[in-house]
Amino acid sequence: MKRILIEEITKYIGEKVKICGWVDSRRDHGKIIFIDLRDVSGLAQIVFAPNQRAEIYKVAQKLRTEWVIEVTGRVDRRPKGMENPKITTGKVEIGAENLTIFSEAKTLPFETSDERKEVSEEIRLKYRYLDLRRKKMKENLTWRYKVIDFMRNFLKNRGFIEIETPILTKSTPEGARDFIVPSRLQPGKFYALPQSPQQYKQLLMVAGFEKYFQIARCFRDEDPRADRQAEFTQLDIEMAFVEQDDILSLTEELYSELVKELFPQKTITQKPFPRISFEEAMERYKTDKPDLRRDKSNPDELAFGFVVNFPMFEWRKEEGRWDAVHHPFTRPNFENLGGQARPLSENIKEMKKNPDKILAFQYDFILNGFEIGGGSLRTYKPEILEAVFEVMGHKKEDIQKKFGHLLKAFEYGAPPHGGIAPGIDRFMAILMQEPNIREVIAFPKTGDNRDLMMEAPSEVDEKQLKELRIGITKN
Ligand code: ASP
Repeated sequence: MKRILIEEITKYIGEKVKICGWVDSRRDHGKIIFIDLRDVSGLAQIVFAPNQRAEIYKVAQKLRTEWVIEVTGRVDRRPKGMENPKITTGKVEIGAENLTIFSEAKTLPFETSDERKEVSEEIRLKYRYLDLRRKKMKENLTWRYKVIDFMRNFLKNRGFIEIETPILTKSTPEGARDFIVPSRLQPGKFYALPQSPQQYKQLLMVAGFEKYFQIARCFRDEDPRADRQAEFTQLDIEMAFVEQDDILSLTEELYSELVKELFPQKTITQKPFPRISFEEAMERYKTDKPDLRRDKSNPDELAFGFVVNFPMFEWRKEEGRWDAVHHPFTRPNFENLGGQARPLSENIKEMKKNPDKILAFQYDFILNGFEIGGGSLRTYKPEILEAVFEVMGHKKEDIQKKFGHLLKAFEYGAPPHGGIAPGIDRFMAILMQEPNIREVIAFPKTGDNRDLMMEAPSEVDEKQLKELRIGITKN
């Protein structure tokens, strides 16, 4: 007999079915044992009566919560007054005719069926596979999948293709520290994990793909911050031959349709999504990610918006140098310097002289007071990119060493291009009304970047270190 999902049993009234799952709860009423069995689709009540099949009843007496079993039996309507409107199979029950125990279970470190009990996050993360048994976590991850699936289909229907880019790569500055990976075959050399696929997606534009996206993992070794993850996921997009408006419109369309299709109970505060200049945001709201909701107590309100016209550079006091506000690949906007009509060399000269006066074709995507993405039009002229690096304090030789590949690529026919990268984790947390992005990530890390379940990071064998020619200095 083929196993069916619990949610399907109501279609089989009067018939025999086979279901599998975890014992969610057990109640004994007089001699009768009631089990709520749970699988990925829901809960069903199983009845074991002593007078019917004595052998099976005897086995059923041993059952404890979270044991994994298989039951065959007939689906019957429950007696009048015994229905449970709280579960979708609440009108029926299964009279057990056969029972197989696949696995027993120790007493769990916390209850997974009771949503209300407070469990410390340490324990939840240590036993994440148990924590993920909770209904809410299943829902969060299922919705996350549906959102990503919607994004993929939306972009596919508009001629984008998803292309994977390397994880073992070279540093791409996004303003954070790199995670580095030692190379065994090139001793003394290191890969960097990508802070984003930024350079690869631009190189794909030089390669002529024109419309790229990727559900991309990014890695940033940042100091502990309560609600950030060292690795996170973003919807990475890049397009050739576009203006800023094309990218913002595409983003707006994607998110509007996504909400309409998947979360019809939610309302979007304002459409088209408002576009506010950085200057106005700072003046009016004193922040570059204003919360534009009309009613902050309404959990189903989504106030999307774009903040545009960021400055190109900001002064880094601690380092005593200019840094790119977004990243160095962002295209400076020379229009406010007297227009594109001026020769490029003069604009570059002016940028080097007065970096603070230059705006950029950069935009942030905001939602309910959070930055949920950012992007820019890119510099595709090598001489501008070199000048930007110089403003940031890189020496000419360094620029060649670090970014020579990109500068060279731009000499072989680079189209104007730009993109955006909305984050998935924060967006999901807002949609699911979770205060913390860890609630929408299957296996998140703690604030100090530890995986409590796998116990990572961990020490490695002497032999591995030797192969890598790495010595650890104590203190
Ligand atoms: N690479 C940027 C980021 O991760 C996004 C972009 O400019 O497309 O923030």
